[in-house]
Amino acid sequence: MKQPPGDGERQRAGGRGSGFVLGLQCIHCQATFPLEPMHEGCPACATDRFRASLSPTYDYRLLAEHVARQGITSDAGIGVWRYRSLLPTATDGAGEISLGEGHTPLVPVPELAGELGLTRLWVKNEAQNPTASFKDRNAAITVAKALEFGATTIIASTSANHGLAVAAYCARADVDCVILTYPGIPDNVRSLMHACGARVIVTEREARLDRLREAVADNGWYPATNMTRLPTNNAYGHEGYKTISYEMFEQLGGEVPDIVAVPTGFGEGIFGIWKGFRELVELKLANRVPRMLACEPLGGPLTLAVDHGDRHLVDVGPRSTIARGIAVTVNTYMGVVAVTRSNGGVASASDPEIVHAQHDLAACGLLAEPASAVGLAGLRTVARRDRLDGAQTAVVIATSSALKSTPTETAAA
Ligand SMILES: [Zn+2]
Repeated sequence: MKQPPGDGERQRAGGRGSGFVLGLQCIHCQATFPLEPMHEGCPACATDRFRASLSPTYDYRLLAEHVARQGITSDAGIGVWRYRSLLPTATDGAGEISLGEGHTPLVPVPELAGELGLTRLWVKNEAQNPTASFKDRNAAITVAKALEFGATTIIASTSANHGLAVAAYCARADVDCVILTYPGIPDNVRSLMHACGARVIVTEREARLDRLREAVADNGWYPATNMTRLPTNNAYGHEGYKTISYEMFEQLGGEVPDIVAVPTGFGEGIFGIWKGFRELVELKLANRVPRMLACEPLGGPLTLAVDHGDRHLVDVGPRSTIARGIAVTVNTYMGVVAVTRSNGGVASASDPEIVHAQHDLAACGLLAEPASAVGLAGLRTVARRDRLDGAQTAVVIATSSALKSTPTETAAA
């Protein structure tokens, strides 16, 4: 594998990355690969029933020396790029795409802590990102990497939030954008995608993956979202979610919460947040990672996958839930890794429980859409079963705003 340039010798590497990033590594078999697009996860351990994601790996020894001298933030960067030395892109600032994502507030909610038996509880309000969801952190990295790879058109298959984030960051980068979405997408979200200059194509769920794969194969477009039947996700986008952990760590004055509850679909968010904390340990800034609690709508695949033990993907088929944005049919190995390696867990929440959580967050002034409220609902599920195991502090990630929801969903709050 190519050795990274030394500290102070950074350069733009035309798609190869630079700085402290070494390459891509399989999150299951640890096989390593160059910093290429790698749209389909790890080829080394893929089978008909299993496929693992790839994730950037870094020279943590050099990075620790750098952080010891300069800290984890860069004064020159904005948005996720404040942490540019920990990201998989060129570190000279060239090619960074930002709309000022991140820097979201960590809101204490003592009124919700007591019922859970927690000393302290916070909500990390990701609704305050540029397009009102945490997907902006992902899109910033993904679009920057796509440009490094020379992409001229970026395509995404999405139910709403991810697509709007990709559309906005493509607009910012002045690159063509195509969004494949579902028939029931809220009109306001579709209008905003159009306003950003994206071409929006409405298809049924079953056809979306085929359309995306054809576009990538035939046109050479860069996929910002998952493109494998056993989902593996983009190899770089989840790195944006690491910045949620770095921010929390700073906002808590160097404290690590006992539990972090994350609404989970394809698991990019919870994996990225777990990886961010793990890196803080690697860099000797923190002494532990929080227990990661993956929260999914009732009947979700990750609950079954983790119950079956490691290296398992489960297909539960389509199901109806108010939390449409995270109603995946198949789990990812990313979710399994985040939960099992942090000694965490998976929690399910029913639609009434999600609506209840949405209502209680709104009563605190926090406007979460149903998929976003699943974090609090899931944490409550675990607390009810007396499985907080002595946890005193927790952070709930509120991933997205209610303001983009359909009228029905919004009325629930
Ligand atoms: Zn592998």
